[in-house]
Amino acid sequence: MKKILKAPHTLPYQEVLKQLGSSENGLEPSEVLEKLHLFGKNEIPEPGKKPIWKIILKQFNNLMVYILLVAVLISFLTQHYVDVYVILAIILINVGIGFIQEYRAEGALEALKNLLVQRCKVIRSGILQTINATDLVPGDILVLEEGDNVPADARLIYSKNARITESSLTGEAVPVEKFDTILPDQIAFGDKSNMVWKSTFVTSGSIKAVVTATGLQTMIGEIASSLREINREQSSFQKKTNKLARQMALIAIGSALVLFLVTIFFQEIPLSESFLIALAALVATIPEGLPAVLSIVLAIGSYRMSKKNAIIREMTATESLGSVDTIITDKTGTLTQNTMTITRLWMPETNDVRVSGEGWESIGQFHGSKEDILTIEQLFEIAAHCHNSSIEINEKGQYQITGDPTEAAFLVLGNKAGKSKELEILEDVAFNSELKYRSTLVRKEGKKLRFYLGAPEAILSICTHSRDKEGNKIPLKDKSFIEDKLHLWSEESLRVLALAQKEEENQKEGQELEFVGLAGMIDPPRHGVFDAVKSCHEAGIRVIMATGDHASTALSIGKEVGIVKEGREKVFSELELSEMDPEEFDKAVQEADVFSRLTPMMKLKIAKSLQKNGSLIAMTGDGVNDAPALKQANIGISMGIMGTDVAKDASMMVLADDNFATIVRAVEQGRIVFNNARRTSFFLITTNFAEIFTLILTVMFGLPVPLTATQILWINIVTDGFCDKALATEKGKGNELNSPPIDQKENIINKSILPFLIISSIIMTSLAIFAFWWHLPHGVEKARTLTFISLAFSQLFNAINMRNLNGSAFSLGLFSNKWLNYALLVSVLITVLIIEIPVLSYAFKFQPVSFWEFLLWASLSSLVFWATEIFKYFKFRAS
Ligand code: ADP
Ligand code: MG
Repeated sequence: MKKILKAPHTLPYQEVLKQLGSSENGLEPSEVLEKLHLFGKNEIPEPGKKPIWKIILKQFNNLMVYILLVAVLISFLTQHYVDVYVILAIILINVGIGFIQEYRAEGALEALKNLLVQRCKVIRSGILQTINATDLVPGDILVLEEGDNVPADARLIYSKNARITESSLTGEAVPVEKFDTILPDQIAFGDKSNMVWKSTFVTSGSIKAVVTATGLQTMIGEIASSLREINREQSSFQKKTNKLARQMALIAIGSALVLFLVTIFFQEIPLSESFLIALAALVATIPEGLPAVLSIVLAIGSYRMSKKNAIIREMTATESLGSVDTIITDKTGTLTQNTMTITRLWMPETNDVRVSGEGWESIGQFHGSKEDILTIEQLFEIAAHCHNSSIEINEKGQYQITGDPTEAAFLVLGNKAGKSKELEILEDVAFNSELKYRSTLVRKEGKKLRFYLGAPEAILSICTHSRDKEGNKIPLKDKSFIEDKLHLWSEESLRVLALAQKEEENQKEGQELEFVGLAGMIDPPRHGVFDAVKSCHEAGIRVIMATGDHASTALSIGKEVGIVKEGREKVFSELELSEMDPEEFDKAVQEADVFSRLTPMMKLKIAKSLQKNGSLIAMTGDGVNDAPALKQANIGISMGIMGTDVAKDASMMVLADDNFATIVRAVEQGRIVFNNARRTSFFLITTNFAEIFTLILTVMFGLPVPLTATQILWINIVTDGFCDKALATEKGKGNELNSPPIDQKENIINKSILPFLIISSIIMTSLAIFAFWWHLPHGVEKARTLTFISLAFSQLFNAINMRNLNGSAFSLGLFSNKWLNYALLVSVLITVLIIEIPVLSYAFKFQPVSFWEFLLWASLSSLVFWATEIFKYFKFRAS
């Protein structure tokens, strides 16, 4: 499709609007539909997606397949044609299993990616609204603010202090300024200062612009680079397991070699057969499945987290979450509901005026003396103009806001008083978390007037005047009576904001900022946060509140949600912290759980200090300035609803519901992930050991080889192929949060494997050897058949053991893992079929066994289960 607009940067924006059939009020719904049809969705198809045939092909390219091919070759050369087919079939089955598992993991990742849709603000039919960025069309009026990703290419209509980081396109990290102007046609890309481009982001300021190109027609679309891809770097966990797999491979090679030598030494069989058996043992004991299974564990963990509203952007987070011992969280919106309702107003000359009404509904009354209510009217004009938000009622009849809830509260206040944006707005400066206030310049009765709204300390520090009863401007010398009021309100958990105004003459800026009044709003704690904080404390996790709000408000909310405990009521503010030397600072960070009036830079310092003390930190953030702190934290967490795109891009995890309780659920899942990794590894290791011991020892006892090469390979499929994957899906015991965090340095394989290893090796091995020895008089093939049954079944029983490493398998409900039930069922079926179906039993050289023989050895195999249960009973009896 050709471009609709050539060189929009050479045209005045009015002309661009005209050519795109739009206006400053934006498009109408019917026009949007038409354009969506014409230009398609605003998206760039991802180049990186792996085609299915590549995933299939990849399965053939691994060491195990190569070893098996060698086995095929040897069988062929020694004219064991049946074995050739059997081994080829085994290769295919392995490849099939590998494919299914990788395909599922890919699917889970794909699903995660879809959860990270970008939203953006547009004006349509004159109304500010939030839509999915994929629904943008040329002609849409974009409204961009600090921290927003630019969702499409657009021509500027208006900008205020706008700086854009275009590094994704130009590689240049320094933000560039953007303003409305007309430029010559031939101009360098980086100099097109009246255009903004998809894939860049707003570092500061605000912008209104008209979309000129979407999807593949954007600059970045033409470059067609992949955007926002989920980072799939190897996690430390995967590195650890890869190392582990290599070590185990060495052990496997060593044991295969031993087996090879002992068969030569103790047996009189052809060399090629010894070699084949050693190869089979090698394939069976190499933990080739381990890294793959662990990546499934991670994928399943991430998927489950996303179901609980914690969306993982980097796989590493999934495992690190289990080791988190400190959570540093924002207050507003994360611990609280962010449904700001202004309940109290005050001006220097009045008493408190109370405001009724709840939430975003614009109905409410003012309660106070007649005189006070009359005076307080002066606040409403500021309230009605100094915000950038809107409220709509959605299809479900619920109120929905666009913009910052703090600001929407003022919109609602204005509505309650019957005031809306009536004055001409000349300029709107968005809230800035360093300055802690916002402002709006309006024209009133021919004069320019700037309204201010922000944190009281910030506003008060620049106020010089107020007004007396008669409305005369008087210098504001003593501010303490205002501060007293502020403290009083803050202690009641009210979030207090100050309103101010200043006249701005043409050219020269007026200096006299006039304090007008205070507004107190309630922002109740979220449901469930108190319990979540309690779970954290029980789980040995420290919770720290890092807020930009006032100390008293922070402290009282901190008490309400249980972060602040008796005897630990200390709160440090940015100012106090900034005056400390490093030692005092480290001490302060240990002493208090609430930090107030923080800037993002101080959050970064607090994180560093904690990390220096060995903590593993999860930290929340939402603004552009939070990005460095989010990167510094071991797990940066951004807000899905209130967070900026920049914060999301800097984070490892996004909270779809902004809710603190979600973090705690993610930590719980993180611990389950670790346990599942341990459980599957233990399973693979214990069963592999039992197999190799059986082979080596039987031969050393002077008996024939107890299993043929193809039988060994088959046992490996039955057990390693299904049960390990099923174990990766364990849901956890529900008590994961009752113990302290997992040590960061803790390895997946630790000495707690020893008892399992010893029990399973001794029982499984002796049982298998016994079965072989007992039935040997009935012929070696018969003996092998029963050895096969006993080994296969004891591995299945061992899988049930591994469901619970710290207690009885019965305590989970014996058959509560659906996938393991399937795996067991399939494994049993396969074992029966391969022995009972004549063609197969011929191919594998099995002899028929009676029902009772089968039942006897299958039941005896459960010994490994009972022995482990007894061990667990004595070990975990106390707990
Ligand atoms: P927090 O969200 O933890 O309260 P912020 O850094 O977002 O911290 O805000 C700091 C303070 O700035 C708030 O306590 C409030 O007084 C003020 N503030 C926050 N948002 C706005 C806004 N949109 N407009 C004006 N003032 C604001
Ligand atoms: Mg905030």
